[in-house]
Amino acid sequence: MAFIQFEHITKRFGRNTVLDDINLDVEKGKLVTLLGPSGCGKSTLLRCLAGLENPDGGRIILDGEDITNRQPSERKVSMVFQQYSLFPNMNVFDNIAFGLKIQKIPQKQLRTMVEEMMAMVELQGKEHALPRHLSGGQQQRVALARSLVTRPKVLLLDEPLSAIDAKLRKSLQHRIQQIQRELNITCVFVTHDQDEAILMSDIIHLMNQGTVEQSGAPIELYTSPKTSFAASFIGNYNVLDGAAFAKLVGEPAKPNDVAIRPETINLTLEAPQMQPDAYVLSGEIMEFSPHGNVIRYTVRVGEQDIHADALFRSFKLFQTGQKVYAIVEKRNCLPVM
Ligand code: ADP
Ligand code: MG
Repeated sequence: MAFIQFEHITKRFGRNTVLDDINLDVEKGKLVTLLGPSGCGKSTLLRCLAGLENPDGGRIILDGEDITNRQPSERKVSMVFQQYSLFPNMNVFDNIAFGLKIQKIPQKQLRTMVEEMMAMVELQGKEHALPRHLSGGQQQRVALARSLVTRPKVLLLDEPLSAIDAKLRKSLQHRIQQIQRELNITCVFVTHDQDEAILMSDIIHLMNQGTVEQSGAPIELYTSPKTSFAASFIGNYNVLDGAAFAKLVGEPAKPNDVAIRPETINLTLEAPQMQPDAYVLSGEIMEFSPHGNVIRYTVRVGEQDIHADALFRSFKLFQTGQKVYAIVEKRNCLPVM
């Protein structure tokens, strides 16, 4: 049996159904991510697990127990928020120790537990500092330590890194992953950032308008999206409806949409050999833009614009207006719903 089970969870705010019959399992010791655009219901689902919202229907089982109607404090889950929510007048040590004091843990044991946790989040020497004297990244590590020190069954993280600048975010992503593995703690992580989700997760649940659109390992979601929504949210696929795709490749129309990942499209200047298992399309470069180490070209084929990604190698750049051939293997044209 899964460690956490969401069974038919429904949640409404007034007439707005924000969670629509969610069924979802989380295995023990895994880092599982709820990914999806803003407003799709990620935080609400997490808050139902924490007991900060009550679902209108369904049950939540944690470690074999129905916790649907338990008080938040009786659930043994702990939550880290985007806004660190530290106690401003308490120093780092007291912030981290707070939950243990409530549990009336003896002083000596408490000190050992807090120090252990401070080492784990690399905040040694900061015990007397007040939150306002710490950077955002350090404050978030205090929040993380404060949540972990009580040894919850599940750690919930709601966009914990969204307010932290890009470079520091990378190192914190790595740190959270390391801690998760070291403690073997079950984590439910929320983000709207596909790269962060792919990097960090054992399993991703992609959400869309209060439902789970697709679940799977990051590579699986990336390479095998089942729906147009999944294809456009993860992997930046070109998504064409059946008629547009048929026109593009000169074949009879299919009923489903077709998704093509930009990096599976190869651009060349010279006419390539005809290949039975690939489409060769002639087009024109409309524009291009650098995305880190990749250049994304917009290529017009007939009336259709498609994106093609190429590694940013200076010896092979195309110019706007150039006629090119776009080659895409048929197996990389994925039917999606
Ligand atoms: P996400 O975390 O994916 O951005 P949320 O779970 O916060 O999305 O919100 C899902 C939907 O529920 C949104 O349309 C939001 O406006 C609505 N919502 C969330 N909390 C409340 C609330 N307390 N009252 C009314 N509507 C809410
Ligand atoms: Mg949210």
